[in-house]
Amino acid sequence: MSLTGTYDDQNIFAKIIAGEAPAIKIFEDDVAVAFMDIFPQSPGHCLVVPKEPARNLLDLSDDMAAAAIQRVKTLAKAVETALQPDGIMVTQFNGAPAGQSVFHIHFHIIPRWEGDSLGRHGGEKADMDELEAQARKIASFID
Ligand code: AMP
Repeated sequence: MSLTGTYDDQNIFAKIIAGEAPAIKIFEDDVAVAFMDIFPQSPGHCLVVPKEPARNLLDLSDDMAAAAIQRVKTLAKAVETALQPDGIMVTQFNGAPAGQSVFHIHFHIIPRWEGDSLGRHGGEKADMDELEAQARKIASFID
């Protein structure tokens, strides 16, 4: 899959946006949906997915990019309050060689704790009950 190309509306995040696939959601508005990453690289790893059908940041409209980064900040602040990590990574990959595996624009919010190493990208599937609990806790700090 190259960096540029046609948007595939059958990708898993498009299905989550359309309500055709399940997700453990944290918040949703007209701009974006945020939900838990089911293969988390750390406890609390979650994603902000703009609803615009764009493959990556390069394809995303300027208006949506601006609106999306506000949601990323909102979620990062809620993660900080809810989980009290020592740091938070915000990552975003464009194209398979850069690490992208789902070809719908999204931002990772990955809490980090001193001394804990980062889990493998797309590694082990999480316990869904734990993800639900994390999502509810994070969501409780979003107005
Ligand atoms: P990327 O490599 O940046 O495209 O990241 C895609 C992310 O989506 C990975 O961290 C996956 O663990 C995550 N992921 C894949 N499928 C799902 C799903 N159905 N629900 C939640 N997260 C997912």
